[in-house]
Amino acid sequence: MPVTPLLRCLRALPQRFSGLGLPRHQGGISEKVCLDARETTATFVGKWLPDLRSGIDSLPEVEVGRMDQSFYRAEIVLEDGEEEELERRLPQYMLQHLATHKRDWLEIYQSLLRERRHHHAAWFMSSAYKGTGSWLLWRGGTDGRFRYVPSEFVEALRLRLLIDPVRNPRHGPLCTLCDAANLEEAPLHPLDCNALRPARRWRHDRVRDALIALFKTYFEDDLLVNGTVTGERWYDGEDGVRRKVDIVVHAWGSTYALDVAVVDPSAPTYIRMGSAARPDVAARHRGEQKIAYWREMQGVRGVNFVPFVVEATGRLGPHAYRFFHDNMEDVDKATFYQRMNAALARWNARMVLTCKGEIEVPREAQGA
Ligand SMILES: [Zn+2]
Repeated sequence: MPVTPLLRCLRALPQRFSGLGLPRHQGGISEKVCLDARETTATFVGKWLPDLRSGIDSLPEVEVGRMDQSFYRAEIVLEDGEEEELERRLPQYMLQHLATHKRDWLEIYQSLLRERRHHHAAWFMSSAYKGTGSWLLWRGGTDGRFRYVPSEFVEALRLRLLIDPVRNPRHGPLCTLCDAANLEEAPLHPLDCNALRPARRWRHDRVRDALIALFKTYFEDDLLVNGTVTGERWYDGEDGVRRKVDIVVHAWGSTYALDVAVVDPSAPTYIRMGSAARPDVAARHRGEQKIAYWREMQGVRGVNFVPFVVEATGRLGPHAYRFFHDNMEDVDKATFYQRMNAALARWNARMVLTCKGEIEVPREAQGA
């Protein structure tokens, strides 16, 4: 796979700007370390792998001392800062970095639209959000229990780098699972395939679990209905009718019923609604659908319903964002973002691998 200018740019863009957050080698120390590492590699290759010598000679030129450490400080603040603080609080030199990243982001976005890669444009826009790339640094727990297997990581990375999953050339253009969708027209169809309902359910449940883990850190267990915090729960209305939601939390003097959903902004339905042109189209639509449904069932009096909809990239939808913003401003949400995004990236990848026939279709999906 050749390293195109697009890939090079995505690699260097901060994670909150849909990139991998791997800054280019710039700054005195980094450049010196880079050259030292090359020297060591060259010695090793010269001694043990002489065939690879020509590769070492063709590495791009690195100049020591072109930029100072402020570049790195800026990169770190850009990755970790809260959205609204960024532009208000940054000193001039950091604002310049921010402006450069924004310009690069916009250039990529416009080139995707020009090339009519609307599903990539939608995914790219949705990925521009704090935390959507946090899975890239996920170590899988202190004991590595949750580490990705390499094929999962590769597929997750492909999605992030706007490379369509490669289809199995032995199959035609139709999805081998549902036999309905044309993968040439909807390359990211695996994230939305009807035959993968159980996998979607698991992806949904892991997002719910991450949210529960966040609540557990800040509230006593008994703030959650029934004290236990796994599985779906029913909430009784005054009319005696039961409504099913994912989480109920009594906090801040109110009761909230949260219903979790994951939507794919690059799905053809949402592209038609404009998800490549504006952010939050998919999540807002699904959130509004859920609210309408809750109202139709006449909800539960005194309970605030929150459609906690996130996009498959990890972006919080507007309803979820509002809930966080209004109630949990002082709560450190970094671990939540990391857990949720690691789960989303892994399950997205598993869905792609299933559609490619590289892992087995989940048992519950057969015949669906
Ligand atoms: Zn399908």
